[in-house]
Amino acid sequence: LFLTFEGIDGSGKSTQARLLAETLRRLGHDVVLTREPGGSPGAEEIRRLVLEGDPDRWSAETEILLFTAARRDHLERTILPALAAGKIVVCDRFADSTRMYQGLSRGDLRRLVDQLHALMIGREPDLTVLIDMDPETGLSRAKGRHGNEERFEDFGPDLQRRMRTGFLALAQEFPDRFRVIDGNRDMDMVAADVTEIVTRELQR
Ligand code: C5P
Repeated sequence: LFLTFEGIDGSGKSTQARLLAETLRRLGHDVVLTREPGGSPGAEEIRRLVLEGDPDRWSAETEILLFTAARRDHLERTILPALAAGKIVVCDRFADSTRMYQGLSRGDLRRLVDQLHALMIGREPDLTVLIDMDPETGLSRAKGRHGNEERFEDFGPDLQRRMRTGFLALAQEFPDRFRVIDGNRDMDMVAADVTEIVTRELQR
């Protein structure tokens, strides 16, 4: 089973991914917890190339190629081998994040993202949990955590709002695999909802 978490920065998806992995392990499942960008040695190197340093270093198109290259490596080296071994893969962000961030934040490049996805990735998660979160709260949480990492200069309230709306629209576009959870609540309440959704999926 391939599960992904999506949401805006500061939505708490990384925490929820970790909590879910712990819960599933307690239930006796073999779980691989991973993340994007990154999740394999090569993809973590690409993560540094993209997220550290001058945010204008790469054009929007090149950035899509780099994220796709990272995802391909992550898929080949980490995700597919784990799935083949019967493990549950819990991934913090996947292609939906690229559909949003690279697809929407610097012009409308969604078509290019989808074309490259079809060509080089061609795999969607079995289930995607979208942690929906108030954009302002998310931004202040994310800023508190990352300090003033350069990339966050770009990630003002406006983009954060657009990303939230975009993610909700994406959930409507792929209703079969998306589940939307209200992240504006106590961490444990959110985690309980996540566990319920995933347990139900495991019983299918
Ligand atoms: O999820 P995480 O906090 O690790 O993401 C790191 C940064 O990379 C965030 O600022 C996120 O918005 C950004 N990002 C991005 N494009 C992606 C995935 C993440 O710009 N496809």
